Order: sequence, then C-alpha cells, then structure tokens
Amino acid sequence: MTRQSQGHLDCIPAPRYADALQSVVDFVKEHDDWLIVSHERPDGDAIGSALAAAHILTALGKTWRFVAEGPLPARFNYLPLFSQAYTSIQAVDRQFQHVLAVDCADEARFAHARSFIAEGAKIVNVDHHHTNPRYGAAAWVDADAAATCELMFHLALALDVELNEPLATCLYTGILTDTGGFAQPNTTRDVHLITARLLASGVQPYDIAEPALESRTWPQMRLLQMALNNLTVSSDGKYAILYVTQGMLEGAGCTDDDTEGLVGFTRSIDTVEVGALFRETADGRIKVSLRSKRRVDVSRIAQMFAGGGHTRAAGCTIVGDLGDAMDAVVEEIERALEAAGA
Ligand code: 5GP
Ligand code: MN
Repeated sequence: MTRQSQGHLDCIPAPRYADALQSVVDFVKEHDDWLIVSHERPDGDAIGSALAAAHILTALGKTWRFVAEGPLPARFNYLPLFSQAYTSIQAVDRQFQHVLAVDCADEARFAHARSFIAEGAKIVNVDHHHTNPRYGAAAWVDADAAATCELMFHLALALDVELNEPLATCLYTGILTDTGGFAQPNTTRDVHLITARLLASGVQPYDIAEPALESRTWPQMRLLQMALNNLTVSSDGKYAILYVTQGMLEGAGCTDDDTEGLVGFTRSIDTVEVGALFRETADGRIKVSLRSKRRVDVSRIAQMFAGGGHTRAAGCTIVGDLGDAMDAVVEEIERALEAAGA
C-alpha cells in the first residue's frame, strides 16, 4: 500500500450507530442467500447501494439476486453488475428468506419485489431517510448520512471487503447523485473524506459525473423544453410548480423515468423556497416531487399525502386528477411556508 492511500485510510470517519451497524454485519455474515431490493423509480443511490450490496455479498462468497422496482435508467449502465439486475416484471425463479433493503424509507417502497419475498422472511434495512420506521429484523438507519452509499461504504469496511474499483464506482455514484454533485447541504466533511478514499481505489470522477449527472437524451431535453413552458411561480415568488402530463411525455418521446431532475428547475429560481413537480403516471395517479432550500421540511408535506423522504427532498403519490392534486399540495406548501416564516 502506498503512503498516500495509507494517509486517506487514517482519515476515514467513524460510522454512527455502531451497534446498529454491528447488527447488520452479524446478520449478513450469518446468512448466505440474499434478495437485494431498493426503491421504486431507482435513482443513483438506490442502484449504487444495491449494486454495492451485490459486490459485498459476492466478495463474502454469498449468492444474491437484485430485483429492482422498475427499469434502471440507462444513464447508470456504466455501473459494474448493472446488467445483472432483474426488474420486478421479470420472473425470478424463487422466493428468498433473507432480504437486504437499501435506500428504502418504508416497506411499501419495494412493493413490487414482495412476490419474491418468502412468508416470514427476515429483512435487513440499511437507509438514510429520517422517516424510516426502522422496519426489519436488523435496521441501520442514519439520517445524517448523505446517501445510503455512505452507509454501504462503512458496511464494506466492517465486513473486511476490499474497496476495489467496481465497488468504489457504485459507492461514488450514490454519494455523487444524492448530494447533487457535492452541492446540497448534506455534503459533509465525511462525504469528502469517504470520496477521497474512493478516488484512491481508482474512481474517475468525470467518467461517473458525465453519465450520472450531466447527460440527457434528446427526448429528455425536448421534455425539459416543454416542461419549462408551464413553469409557474407564486405571486410572492416563494414557491414554483411544474407539471408533466402523459401527453407531454408522448410528444417528447419520453417515459415516466425521463422526468428525473426536472424538479430541480423549480428550486433554482432565486426567490423560491419550495419547488414541486407533478407528474401524471401511466396508471392515472399523480406523483409529486418536492424540494426546498433552507426553511421548509418538505418530508412533512409529503407525509400528509402518505409519502415521505428527506427534509429538502421528498415525494408522494396522489390518486386523483392533476388539477386537484396541485391544489391540495399547493395549499399545504403555502401553510408550511407561513409556519416556517419563509
Ligand atoms: P423524488 O422526488 O426524487 O421521487 O424523491 C425524493 C425523495 O423522496 C427520495 O429520497 C425518495 O426516496 C423520497 N420519496 C419519493 N416518493 C416517496 C413516497 O411516495 N414515499 C416515501 N416514503 N418516500 C418517497
Ligand atoms: Mn438515497
């Protein structure tokens, strides 16, 4: 080992909730055959932490299947083991007794994978959403972690798994995307120390940032053009909303998954504290994405509609028509802004 990488290792932050981490370590060591699940509309942290789990289990000589809740965005196809993910619409030949759930704020987040989970199966829950009720036989939830991949980094170390380049690439992807490119308030000293260690394993930042954050397909760019046409801001400038209908998706040649990242444009308006994106889904529901800057806890707004998430990024699903959903959520946004004195 070089002196330089030894130096990085000296700076590795300690994991929080060491007992909870240990309970996960013990459980993983004890069992050999795993189903890995993550949340619907898989993002960089969901996929990164699931594939990191796959690498860790492989390194420990265990078997696994990763059943994603939906199609994985092609932008992440540089991830090692990406092609070995199953989606829940494909048949997996059997049910599993041991489940590793990563980045899933609650069990409903992996509802589609349910049919592959045996009755009475034991679930291990590794997550960083503060709304997580700590379900499962072993739960390690740390809301101060920027990404579930930050936790998977500690899990790999605790299990003595080598941080090789494929594993580091998965971990870096989740940390990069969940911190919005090291820009969001969850970007901590720990994040940069861990990231430095991942670079020492050979991660090439631009090779990941370019596909994971920067790149858009032409249909996605067309959808952005259309969506920005209906961007509106409140009269006091404090919140902004965007919507995407099924007609817009068809017109742009996009699917539901191509709306990723659009909500960010609401929050980038300088006066805005809360931004919301409303998307009509193919099955006639309205998916809401909420973002805030500094004052409003949008996870509380999402929870009023049976959703959840983080303080600054949350979501929920509403059954009903687009206009009604927008009215109902806007009313709660206005109330939250007033309560926060924003
Ligand atoms: P997004 O708006 O990007 O879909 O989600 C933002 C954050 O809120 C993510 O951390 C996501 O896990 C969480 N989230 C989104 N929708 C839901 C939901 O319906 N229920 C819960 N519990 N969390 C959600
Ligand atoms: Mn996450």
